[in-house]
Amino acid sequence: MSKKIIVIGAGVIGLSTALECQMRGHEVILLEKGKCGGQASGAAAGLLAPFSEIEEDPDDFFTLCLSSLRLFSKWKDLVMTESNHSFEYTTSGTVHAYFHEADMLKIEMRMNWQKKFQVKAEKLTAKQIRTLEPSLSQDAVAGLYYPEESHLYAPDYLIALEKACENIGVTIHENCGKVMLENELERCTVKDEHGNRYSGDIIVLCSGAWSNEWEKYLNLAIPVFPIRGQICAYDQLDKHLNHIVYTSQGYLVSKANNTLVCGASEDIAGFNTAPTIKGIERLKNWNSQVLPMLRSKAPFSKWAGLRPATQDGFPFIGHHPNSENFIFACGHYRNGILLSPITANIVADLVEGKKSVVPLEAFAPDRFTY
Ligand SMILES: Cc1cc2nc3c(=O)[nH]c(=O)nc-3n(C[C@H](O)[C@H](O)[C@H](O)COP(=O)(O)OP(=O)(O)OC[C@H]3O[C@@H](n4cnc5c(N)ncnc54)[C@H](O)[C@@H]3O)c2cc1C
Repeated sequence: MSKKIIVIGAGVIGLSTALECQMRGHEVILLEKGKCGGQASGAAAGLLAPFSEIEEDPDDFFTLCLSSLRLFSKWKDLVMTESNHSFEYTTSGTVHAYFHEADMLKIEMRMNWQKKFQVKAEKLTAKQIRTLEPSLSQDAVAGLYYPEESHLYAPDYLIALEKACENIGVTIHENCGKVMLENELERCTVKDEHGNRYSGDIIVLCSGAWSNEWEKYLNLAIPVFPIRGQICAYDQLDKHLNHIVYTSQGYLVSKANNTLVCGASEDIAGFNTAPTIKGIERLKNWNSQVLPMLRSKAPFSKWAGLRPATQDGFPFIGHHPNSENFIFACGHYRNGILLSPITANIVADLVEGKKSVVPLEAFAPDRFTY
């Protein structure tokens, strides 16, 4: 049966969720405080890189990320088709470079647990690293090659998602100001800052780093907080990277528009999205150690966004414990772009009363409420 769904927040998670739910025949209203994609999602580097990102032993979060990576190829085709808007999506693979002999053990440990998930990974010698990436510093002593990791150009992906939503009939309201629950949970009515009310069968909360503001309305502990990511880009370089280059201190990735994007810091600055001199200098120093050709260069562009971090690093995905009509999809921290297709699919399944394709216990919205 078709349901009326109110999605709060039009970042990558809200837009993807709206798209998937509308595609399945539901009626979606998407409410955004400012502009679609105007916060963390538009600031992202666009890496789809779970094998590089997750160092520890596999857990439910890794399973979630892996499932999403494997959905991405079909998902991006769908987004491009429905939007009629192409965006850069590159299955470049990643060269994960290590700079200390002591890291050799880490490489072995990673490969061991990743093998169990059929992750394609190859160990690289220093020589092999430089065959794959000739511009990389001589200081890289070993590495891992992950051919399945990919990246996309996030600003264009967000535009495509928005267009796809519009084309298939999602009603999008931007510049609503803060949208909040109007009365008790079961009534499923929200109100925006201009006094407009919207009612539906189901509310989906996709409000990123701002999700904690809903605590008092939902009678639930939602420990989501902003972690600023500062990031920069270089242009007019003679050489480009063939792969994502990932290191313990950051990543570097060449984009089709001939820029090299390098990120990103993790700092606590409340809701301040301005990059700082200190933050960018730190990135510049590390970038020029990894890629000596950057020593004489300065980034032409610097920006920052607020990652929605959670107390345990896992997102909140699932029903409110006291209401089937309220669904959480927030707190995706460093991997919201990667997790967009799987989150959209899980939420649409929950809307339809189906079981999620991946275990959700670890992401339960009431896990911090005692
Ligand atoms: C520098 C940087 C680099 C990154 N790189 C990557 C990467 O390479 N790969 C990757 O997978 N992830 C990356 N991330 C993380 C990724 O960007 C986030 O996980 C993702 O964008 C979160 O999406 P979201 O939709 O939850 O949040 P957002 O994009 O922040 O969207 C939330 C939206 O909700 C709106 N909102 C909030 N409250 C309300 C309200 N009450 N009413 C109405 N609207 C509301 C906000 O205005 C906002 O537009 C990066 C992040 C940063 C900052």
